[in-house]
Amino acid sequence: MTYHGDEAFGAFSDEQWARLQACGSAQEVESGALLSGAGEAAYDLILVDSGESDASRPRTTLSSKSTDQEHVTTATTSQAGAAAGPPVRRGHRRARSRAGSARGVIQHDGFAVEPWAVRETSLDLERLAQTESVFALANGHLGLRANLDEGEPFGQPGTYLAGFYETRPLPYAEPGYGDPEDGQTVVNVTNGKIIRLTVEDEPFDVRYGGLRRHERVLDLRAGVLRRTAEWVSPTGRLVRVSSTRLVSFTQRSIAAIFYEVEPLEEEVQVVLQSELVTNETLPITEPDPRAAAALASPLASDLFTGEELGAMLIHTTKGRGLTVAAAMDHRVDGPPDTQTAIRSEGDLARLTITATAAPGRPLRLTKFVGYSWSGERTVPALRDQVDAALAGAVHTGWEGLLQQQRAFLDTFWTDADIEIDGDAELQQAVRFALFHTVQAGARGEQRLIPAKGLTGPGYDGHTFWDTEAFVLPLLLLTYSRRQAVADALRWRHSTLELARKRARSLGLRGAAFPWRTIHGEECSGYWPAGGAAFHINAAIADAVERYLLLTEDETFARETGVELLVETARLWRSLGHHDAAGRFRIDGVTGPDEYSAVADNNVYTNLMATRNLRAAAGAIERYPELARPLGVDDEEAASWRIAAEAIFIPYDASLGVHPQAEGFTEHQEWDFDSTPPENYPLLRHYPYFDLYRKQVVKQADLVMALFYAGEYFTPEEKARNFAFYERLTVRDSSLSAPIQAAVAAEVGHIELAYDYFAEAALLDLDDLSHNTRDGVHIASLAAACTAAITGFAGLRDLRGKLSFVPRLPQALTRLALNLRARETVRLRIEVEQTQATYTLLMGEQLEIHHHGEPITVTAGQPVQRPIPPAPVLEPPAQPRGRAPQRRRAHETTRHQRERA
Ligand code: BGC
Repeated sequence: MTYHGDEAFGAFSDEQWARLQACGSAQEVESGALLSGAGEAAYDLILVDSGESDASRPRTTLSSKSTDQEHVTTATTSQAGAAAGPPVRRGHRRARSRAGSARGVIQHDGFAVEPWAVRETSLDLERLAQTESVFALANGHLGLRANLDEGEPFGQPGTYLAGFYETRPLPYAEPGYGDPEDGQTVVNVTNGKIIRLTVEDEPFDVRYGGLRRHERVLDLRAGVLRRTAEWVSPTGRLVRVSSTRLVSFTQRSIAAIFYEVEPLEEEVQVVLQSELVTNETLPITEPDPRAAAALASPLASDLFTGEELGAMLIHTTKGRGLTVAAAMDHRVDGPPDTQTAIRSEGDLARLTITATAAPGRPLRLTKFVGYSWSGERTVPALRDQVDAALAGAVHTGWEGLLQQQRAFLDTFWTDADIEIDGDAELQQAVRFALFHTVQAGARGEQRLIPAKGLTGPGYDGHTFWDTEAFVLPLLLLTYSRRQAVADALRWRHSTLELARKRARSLGLRGAAFPWRTIHGEECSGYWPAGGAAFHINAAIADAVERYLLLTEDETFARETGVELLVETARLWRSLGHHDAAGRFRIDGVTGPDEYSAVADNNVYTNLMATRNLRAAAGAIERYPELARPLGVDDEEAASWRIAAEAIFIPYDASLGVHPQAEGFTEHQEWDFDSTPPENYPLLRHYPYFDLYRKQVVKQADLVMALFYAGEYFTPEEKARNFAFYERLTVRDSSLSAPIQAAVAAEVGHIELAYDYFAEAALLDLDDLSHNTRDGVHIASLAAACTAAITGFAGLRDLRGKLSFVPRLPQALTRLALNLRARETVRLRIEVEQTQATYTLLMGEQLEIHHHGEPITVTAGQPVQRPIPPAPVLEPPAQPRGRAPQRRRAHETTRHQRERA
């Protein structure tokens, strides 16, 4: 049997594979769009240029007309809902070059490059799913994909609530002891976004009639998505439709939409249908029929109401028994003959508004939507909760919500903005990345932060180490609402009992947190790249330790932090052992690189475990009163320190580098020269059997160690290790480039750092991994920002003592950002080509280092220092065909690149 995919659940026979390909391309299968729950390693694929692979992807929800040179979707010739068959479009770059070739054509130009907005000036139905993710709005609790107001066409409808999921079977060909029995999948809850429009009997649908203009703008400062369309109905009526949508940062259960329709030429009858829709039909994404059955129509109706301008639907998931209440209320402002009618039934609530509108006499609607959910509370309790949330939003009013949103984001940008001069496209990309990071984390309030945030169903809505290793460190460095970080860690803490149970079932002590989960149970069905990736426990401990160092939050330490440190330290102590020579070894685990598995003494894992063991021992020393309740005696704490001291870090003296795990450098090297470019990502073309036994690296692993545990390496070791692993790293995961950027900058390859930084920052705007449709990559976006801070501002010590080695790539003229050294100390660093300026924004005095020189920065007295010239180094080589795209100074905008 041939297997495709990389978890047991994600392994398909040829027959299954053929069936899957019949309903979606292989790429979709592996990107998680079709293969939910499977193959974590398979999901996240960077293809520098794989436009060709788009060629065979069927797009059954869209009406398209294509030639081999261009892809255009015409408003006049398409049939609504018609399955157009596989378009032969070969990537959007060619399509863009033909922009404006025909009247009435919906085309895509790429996003305009602007500092504070992401603007799409025409609609490309081919890219609808990608833009639904890019323009998604969320606040960490509630997330709305950017589906068109009228509901269709769509790439993937999506409304998500953090932590709301359904269980489903996880089938195994050969079940093993300890394999998780159930999977967990995020549920698309009741859709409150829909506002359908009918103009004199004709439904507004961009596939019919003529679309004169279509623009969507994600406003990063206002925190809203604006849309304007001018549409001629098939019977020739011209209307302008404008909508503005927000998911409130200040009222976390609330979304709101301001919608206006205005005829532009003559009086017309318009009908708006503002809806709540449950159990929407979703694109087929589930290969296993049992799992598909559990996820098709997952919500059973408990209650529906409708009165005056408001309605409510309450549903419970059929398997897991979680209940969600969704409610809407409206304010209508229309011509004198405006009439309204409300109806509600099991899976649908609808307010219908009818009016005769005319030029200068539009129909306006404000829609307030509220959500509440629980696994414990009763239907009446949830009904009342959502009613109250909605009443609050209506009381605040649309303008009030806009003001609150702006004020929230003003504070965020004051804290977190990263200013870049010299590359307008990357300025935009970094702000976009920061915006999605805050959207993912701001109001989670003790729920998980999934790898895709709440922007799409990718990875099944699971959280991984991505949150603690990549997202929380950025929020900690920049964001004043550190509460968000504490809350994310409190969520982990709330799953501690499950993690203890998991550890016991594995014969271990302490807590073994799951590789991927929504609720806390392990959901990885492929243990070599899932359950064996114990390093997630060290990432959690590391985030706790960073948070405590920066905030000195005693309450958090006592209630949450110390216990997390202790239980993860216990895990390491029981997972490793002292060998005959007294060395502490951690054998048989998987590190970050998923092209190696179940290896002994992974350097990253061992160093992070060491730090975890020391942090736990240190915490018990600082809080001795917690020792007894946590059952820690002197002997146990001493055993952690002894293990940390004795940790075994393999070293290959003949090569002068660290093997990423014991024996790695002795393996045969992957034959990169004979690997054709189309065979990347490798996991789709070669068996794991082969990948695991060769020197080939999916994503930074030893280089992660250089970044996260840099204090263990000398500068020479860092430089040699970096160059060595560059030759082997293929970046088949998007988590790789930002870390390579940071370390490249540190070891002196500043232009290479710029290339990697650009790749990470543009990942979703340019859809580089061809799976943004499933949601944006929150960890890569966050890490791109961290790469700017650690790479170009050169922040070296992320742990309270700040030292900087700033240096800019040639194209950039200035980089400026603010950092929180401690709760009450804020520092601004401004880097130019030849000098750096440090200004204390809050606090009296701060000791820092600039290129090794100790400096005291005092309030009101900025300090300026020269930047020494960059060393001249031999650039390292990458595997053949896997070098990052060179971001030369003249390639500053996407449009310029297009033209080139
Ligand atoms: C990466 C993991 C990551 C996961 C979710 C995988 O492709 O290899 O490191 O946690 O995607 O982002």
